[in-house]
Amino acid sequence: KECLRESDTVARMGGDEFTVILTEIFDVGSIERILQKLLRTLATTFRLGDEQVFVSASIGVTMYPFDATAIEDLFKNADQALYVAKGAGRNRFSFFTPALQEAAQTRVRLANDLRTGLVEKQFRVVYQPIIEMSTGAIHKAEALIRWDHPQRGLVSPAEFIPIAESSGLIVDIGQWVFQQAAAQVLLWRQSLNPDFQISINKSPVQFNRDGNANQPWSQQLQALGLPGQAIVVEITEGLLLDTTSSVADQLLDLRDAGIQMSLDDFGTGYSSLSYLQKFDIDFIKIDQSFVRHLIPNSTDLALCKAIIVMAHALGMRVIAEGVETAQQRDLLAEAGCDFGQGYLFSKPISAVEFEAFSLGQPL
Ligand code: C2E
Ligand code: CA
Ligand code: CA
Repeated sequence: KECLRESDTVARMGGDEFTVILTEIFDVGSIERILQKLLRTLATTFRLGDEQVFVSASIGVTMYPFDATAIEDLFKNADQALYVAKGAGRNRFSFFTPALQEAAQTRVRLANDLRTGLVEKQFRVVYQPIIEMSTGAIHKAEALIRWDHPQRGLVSPAEFIPIAESSGLIVDIGQWVFQQAAAQVLLWRQSLNPDFQISINKSPVQFNRDGNANQPWSQQLQALGLPGQAIVVEITEGLLLDTTSSVADQLLDLRDAGIQMSLDDFGTGYSSLSYLQKFDIDFIKIDQSFVRHLIPNSTDLALCKAIIVMAHALGMRVIAEGVETAQQRDLLAEAGCDFGQGYLFSKPISAVEFEAFSLGQPL
């Protein structure tokens, strides 16, 4: 209220959602000044008794009567703009635009199509080789899903995985990927290398929403006659930051079955060290954003080196993602990085292509 005028309205919609109605606004500039002030004010420290607390806010903005005239539509617009603001990080605002609306409609349509896609077998799994730096050997691969949409063509997992997560369908999709990858690693342990290992991405939503829909991976592997070592689960830091006891139990179950764990996209989140040990992580995957700009004497190189030294000191091994050039590979190898993955070695490829690729390489 301190940031607003008498004529403006502030309402709490429930939970942590509020609505502000600004009237008598004549230019966008003055809206932005008010929004900045709101964000700045909310970002200051608040005292609650003896404690200092920090909050942040995200704001979605829509304009009456330009964007819509019905109250329901105005709310929907503001929500879509809010979604974008949240996606961009904390302490942001975003204005509603027709393009946003289109993107929101696409999300709704894709969410419906995902279900059909699973039934109609529009998905496939590709495998990207993970190369041992010191020998060039390939006995690991990451399983990555692909969606051949009948109208849209290839849809990137970066686009549809978040939609599958918010609709909960990721549980079924993830189970399907697991089955494909498990069947594949069974074959490759016979034909390529007895220690072959496939890593599978598992989203936090799969840990939190699986319920008892699927048997634990440990049991599914056992039923296939596969040891836990055949599989690595790739998780992100977010999962470890606020673990419920159910998530912690599932992680323990994986570990007890000998299934190893990789921490994906390392360096992009909180990068807190304490839980790496607490949860017994086996591999750290350095995010592509550090590898992309690797040149001699760069800060990114210093960061990569630090991550590698730290990981080794904690008994973990390191996989660098997104290795695209020979220089990046050489700098990483020199820094002691254990494994590399990226277009320099190979893009993610079909199982058949993978076999041809790996037979041309030392095993
Ligand atoms: P991710 O787990 O970080 O996977 C690595 C991504 O980097 C893949 O994108 C891969 O194709 C890409 N990549 C590999 N090497 C290079 C390189 O040298 N340069 C560049 N620019 N990119 C490279 P992709 O396959 O599009 O997957 C995107 C994300 O979607 C994955 O990121 C992962 O978070 C998610 N995803 C993919 N498949 C699955 C799945 O089966 N389950 C779940 N839960 N998530 C999945
Ligand atoms: Ca991954
Ligand atoms: Ca990654």
